[in-house]
Amino acid sequence: MFRTPIILRQFIRSRQSQARWNTRSTTRAELEKWQEQRVLSFLREIVPKSPYYKRAFSTLDHSEWRKLPVIDKTEMMSCFSEMNTAGIRKEEAFHLALRAERTRDFSATLGTVTVGLSSGTTGNRGLFLVERKEAWAYAGTLLGKILPDLFKGRHRAALFLRSNSNLYEGTRNPFLEFQYFDLTRAMAEHVGSLNRFEPTLIVGPPSVLRELARFSIEGSLRISPTKIYSAAEVLEPLDRRFIEDAFRTRTDQIYQCTEGFIGVSCSHGTIHLNEDLLVIEREAVPSADGRSEYFVPVITDFTRKTQPIIRYRLNDLLLPKKRACPCGSLFTALESISGRSDDILYFGAKAVLPDFIRRALILSSEAIEEYRVIQHHPHELEIQLKCREGEQKSCRTAVGNKIAELCAEFNLEIPVLRFKYYETQSLDGKLRRVYRAFDPFNSVDTVSS
Ligand SMILES: [Zn+2]
Repeated sequence: MFRTPIILRQFIRSRQSQARWNTRSTTRAELEKWQEQRVLSFLREIVPKSPYYKRAFSTLDHSEWRKLPVIDKTEMMSCFSEMNTAGIRKEEAFHLALRAERTRDFSATLGTVTVGLSSGTTGNRGLFLVERKEAWAYAGTLLGKILPDLFKGRHRAALFLRSNSNLYEGTRNPFLEFQYFDLTRAMAEHVGSLNRFEPTLIVGPPSVLRELARFSIEGSLRISPTKIYSAAEVLEPLDRRFIEDAFRTRTDQIYQCTEGFIGVSCSHGTIHLNEDLLVIEREAVPSADGRSEYFVPVITDFTRKTQPIIRYRLNDLLLPKKRACPCGSLFTALESISGRSDDILYFGAKAVLPDFIRRALILSSEAIEEYRVIQHHPHELEIQLKCREGEQKSCRTAVGNKIAELCAEFNLEIPVLRFKYYETQSLDGKLRRVYRAFDPFNSVDTVSS
């Protein structure tokens, strides 16, 4: 009905914004002014409909929105029923989302609102509401930002998604065709359909892309996509290299989560934050290795009106690029998305960013094919390695030396290293290569050291 015009309009807009027309800005200051106007007009619309924000703004002017407290998932979930502008109660939303997951039928809605459930540990899952027109606009924006040379032939996009969505179904036109691949099924089952579909573009989490790359190297998967996008998980340099070597094309990144569409790689391969959709404030992250330019993003999305996302802290560690990107975009350029903020490790009492460990692993030996580093204890690291045949021992020594070297450089306590063979994991779990598995604030060891 209204779907195509909305998708198309957003498609054109998000293309334009890369060309700076949509935001009508030629300088960063102009962009920020434009964003401020967008936030104010967004607030004018949503505040009267949201009991939570009506109360929050009873003593504040809309222009003072930056004085609102920063919220996170826990706060958002506890105020869910009062915050959304559709009058949807948390219990009914949960009920619908859980039933959809169980039956894998995601077509049920509350009126025109789709309910989504974010992944997370039990008891810490987020609920997200998206109204139909918002979803179409979202689809248009995403396509506008990721589709290469739209008018050069027909695109076939293979989407590997955790939950199916009826969003793009029916989007069949001379330029574009979609096919879904269910992540809950074994990857080997998809090989035949992929060979028949011959996708020109693949979107999927790095764990899946890596698996596809393996099938391609083995020869059973015979596709040559021109564009590959990694989404939903951190793309580690090691996996990126593996995927790119197998498909002989660059792997770009879509930075999105249930809370919003945060960023995407440009034609130069740099991830830019979507500052045509969001205001992104930065919370500084101190780290013992001296790389303190990392930040945690606090987002305000001025396009999502059903479930307002205002000053919402994402659980991600971002490293901004020092130099401007040659594409000329005004949007913040990132060096990397470095993991989740609760994956920060602790060497004794000092915080160490996951990138520190990543660097040590990558620099230590070319023979490392896969790795996982888990910290269970402040004075210890478990390091799992999969190495080229016969090189396990030399890799372990090299990793030990590299970590010792970096610890000396940044004056850190050297943890005890416990080496193991790499344990392969199932594909439905997220691929996390560096993470912490204890709570530093409840650890006697950390406090006393
Ligand atoms: Zn760029």
